[in-house]
Amino acid sequence: MQAATRDEIEAAFGGWTDKEELFVPTLDEIDWDARDFLGWVHPGGHRGYLVHWSPVDGELKGTVLRRSRRGGKKPHVEMCAWCHHVHYSGGTAMFSVSLKGSHGRHIFGNVVCADLACSLRIRNLIGAPPWASETMYLPARIWRMQRKMHKWLRKADRL
Ligand SMILES: [Zn+2]
Repeated sequence: MQAATRDEIEAAFGGWTDKEELFVPTLDEIDWDARDFLGWVHPGGHRGYLVHWSPVDGELKGTVLRRSRRGGKKPHVEMCAWCHHVHYSGGTAMFSVSLKGSHGRHIFGNVVCADLACSLRIRNLIGAPPWASETMYLPARIWRMQRKMHKWLRKADRL
């Protein structure tokens, strides 16, 4: 993705009422070429943040997500809904976003990589290579990932 500055990112979250909750990580080491969107998690673990250039108006959009870890003690396999990486237990989290203007009455959830680092995972830049390996061509995987993410954001009127 096109690089964004800290100021641009803060401005992208401008409409968020819960401003004290905004946490922006250090951006110095971000390899923007390896990102299709920028996602990160609040140190408290209760929120995720998503920044992307909108395919609708070209503006940088910031979305705050509610994050919850998924329970269950039995070891199981989980798949990220965006990048289709297959994790062992604990690798995914439920992220939810409210429909813009609904004051939290309408919520859309998605089970994705717990660290929102799908862009890196899809390029095999972090973590173990997927043990359920996919043979799909990288641009096709990126396209699928973005399509899923955009569809979700569009439902919440945050694309
Ligand atoms: Zn993922």
